[in-house]
Amino acid sequence: MYKAIVIRLLPTQSQAKLFWQNVGTARWTWNWGLALQKKSYSECKEILSVYELKREFTEVRNSEKFKWLQEVSRQVEANALIDLDKAYKNFFRRLRTGKTGGMPKFKSKGKCTPSFCTRSEKVKVDEQDRIYLEKIGWIRFKAKENLTGVKFYNARVKFENEKWLLKCAVEVLPEESKIILSDVNMGIDVGVKSLAVVSYGGHKRVFRNINRSHKMRRLTRQLKHHQRILSRKKKGSKNYLKEKYRVQDLYGRIRRRRHEYIKQTAAKIVSMKPKVIVLEDLNIQGMMKNRHLARAVAEQNLYLLRTLIERKAAASGIKVEFADRFYPSSKTCSNCGHVKKDLKLSERIYKCPECGKVIDRDFNAALNLERLA
Ligand SMILES: [Zn+2]
Repeated sequence: MYKAIVIRLLPTQSQAKLFWQNVGTARWTWNWGLALQKKSYSECKEILSVYELKREFTEVRNSEKFKWLQEVSRQVEANALIDLDKAYKNFFRRLRTGKTGGMPKFKSKGKCTPSFCTRSEKVKVDEQDRIYLEKIGWIRFKAKENLTGVKFYNARVKFENEKWLLKCAVEVLPEESKIILSDVNMGIDVGVKSLAVVSYGGHKRVFRNINRSHKMRRLTRQLKHHQRILSRKKKGSKNYLKEKYRVQDLYGRIRRRRHEYIKQTAAKIVSMKPKVIVLEDLNIQGMMKNRHLARAVAEQNLYLLRTLIERKAAASGIKVEFADRFYPSSKTCSNCGHVKKDLKLSERIYKCPECGKVIDRDFNAALNLERLA
């Protein structure tokens, strides 16, 4: 797992001078690359790849005229070109989805936040509370975190509110010993009617199917409506494009909402801190073959839910077990163990012919799964 952190740098006057030199060189490199891209685009309607940019830049850097470029770390310049490439990619993506603006601009002094990327692999901290940046040296700093022995990623120096900051990501290990798990097990029945029915020490908790919510139904209805309009428009016409972007936008909103809900559900399940989580070994591919279930299963992101539960559980030291694919979790009575062979998919309530137990079908399955732990 990675965590974004901010470190306050306390450079000496001569170090601050070096920072400014790095900022200037990064800006110069960006502007140089942007001019080249604009030229390339006006001449052959194409922009250069980041590799071509870097190759061209190396020649400039090695030339006598631009010798001063060698005074800063090569990484500073390489990252400026990578940033430029990303900016172009974002710009083209926006264009494709019908949005305007976002075209990379020349950077001028005072108009953008002064910043530069440093080589993350070289960043390190010593015992005297100093941090090392390539070609700049050891700098005093302040940070909330203990950074000894930490690996740094995506390190970027910025000058914000008259302060020099190092923004970067660090790897954090899951602190297993700190998370205290309960001694209760959990069974989860995932499905189509409800996203998940949980049995936690015999207590029931239901995570609904968000696709059945009022808001999602409305969005889906709108999507279908605009898809229908789109199908009637002439391909390539102005109105066709307008409608196409509307459909893409709606589709994106629906997808993001589903995704967000799955993430929240996985987080809530794991935050109950069970000792063991038992899941069905869902035959998702098998379910996808059933025409009636396929759409519901795909819309529910069941596979993503399982992956997230597994990942989050592992980070908290919770064990995840899978019931055998042929274990009849739905058909077994959670009260007496009787297996009702002819249980139909439409039977939402489980009625046991042996002991007379009447229970919600999904909760019955979740209870059975919990007991497998
Ligand atoms: Zn029974």
